[in-house]
Amino acid sequence: FVTTPLADLSPADLAAFLETQRAAYEALKGRGLKLDLTRGKPSAEQLDLADRLLTLPTSTRDADGVDVRNYGGLTGIRQIREMFADLLWVEPSQVVAGGNSSLSIMHDCLVHLLLHGAQESPRAWAAEEKITFVCPVPGYDRHFTMLASHGIEMVTVDMHEDGPDVEAVARLVKDDPSVKGMWIVPTYANPSGSVISQEKAAALASMDTAAPDFRIFWDNAYAFHHLTEDEAKSADIITLCSAAGHPNRPLMFASTSKITYAGSGVAFLAASEANVAWYTGHEQFASIGPDKVNQLRHVEFFGSAQGVRDHMAKHRAILAPKFAAVDTALSTELAGLGIADWSKPTGGYFVNLDVLDGTATRVVALAKEAGIVLTPAGASYPYGKDEHDRNIRLAPSFPTLGEVETAMAGVATCVALAAAESLAAGHDDKV
Ligand code: PMP
Repeated sequence: FVTTPLADLSPADLAAFLETQRAAYEALKGRGLKLDLTRGKPSAEQLDLADRLLTLPTSTRDADGVDVRNYGGLTGIRQIREMFADLLWVEPSQVVAGGNSSLSIMHDCLVHLLLHGAQESPRAWAAEEKITFVCPVPGYDRHFTMLASHGIEMVTVDMHEDGPDVEAVARLVKDDPSVKGMWIVPTYANPSGSVISQEKAAALASMDTAAPDFRIFWDNAYAFHHLTEDEAKSADIITLCSAAGHPNRPLMFASTSKITYAGSGVAFLAASEANVAWYTGHEQFASIGPDKVNQLRHVEFFGSAQGVRDHMAKHRAILAPKFAAVDTALSTELAGLGIADWSKPTGGYFVNLDVLDGTATRVVALAKEAGIVLTPAGASYPYGKDEHDRNIRLAPSFPTLGEVETAMAGVATCVALAAAESLAAGHDDKV
């Protein structure tokens, strides 16, 4: 049993460690596993929590007497706007309750910006020679692929435990008017789990930008997804930006995808009233109104903002042991070896695993051969390019607890084997 950093082992001890890991890996392969830790999907047990939705709504009218079965009401029904305004610490007038996907609202906002620009834009973004977004890394792969699909350039900044490197962001936005926006998952970020501090949020709100129409895409997908009693409170970016004289800078997104049903929930945009008017001004040509039946169903299901919080506690009871199992497996196998670092998130859906530089692709391939599917190495970087080849995103929500335990013990073996191979090859090179 080795607890010395692998890099400090003698060539003979390292060779012995490598042999042990090879044997462990062969045994792992022999088990014929079929496990998947790729995407942050809720488990069936979590989805079951929301099954009362299938019997709702009991009414066909919202609190204002509007028949939800009919067309209309582009901003969504009043009760759900009020409920989520309370949860997101904004005013109901600053909330649009839309369809089933916040990612679609983000995409709509981006496309409206490209085709029409924002209130402060000199011209449509697509008419600019170049558009650039600042992307904290590691980050959410779908954010990056969305930008890539529209030919938007990406520059990266590092994500830390308290949010992105805001000094780096400030430098990038200051003199270059092509830098029009940035992504940020402020609460329990995908995949690092980090929560942005008030100070960093205030810095983003007040920084000088060369572009007069700079937008922060504030994707609060995990705002209520706590894994401990220490519940993070998202920084109030809308008030911070407004106080700093940039009321239209933030576009906040959220949804009930990881609260009720993923893909059949309700998605939200929260922003200044001017931004709400800008968004609905364009959206009116795309939709006669959202699925109000689904919105009313959610209102009846939750009852109140507190009902949402209470519901999240049930998710926590299912998810927290799975995250604990990830930490236990990695600590048991890898602590002290100096070949892996991993996050211990207090919320959200992911664990960020950094392995020995240059081995992430090998780890994912080894795991795949042993029947454990991981997110492709580098997925959390624009264009899938992790220059250090060290980052792996783990998503333990979907498998059962037993499967997470088995899969993670296997992943730890792959991490150790890949590191030992790489270090042993280094020794050989020196000979
Ligand atoms: N944003 C982030 C950061 C996510 O992780 C996800 C889902 N994995 C989404 C958005 C997708 O949200 P929705 O289902 O509302 O489109």
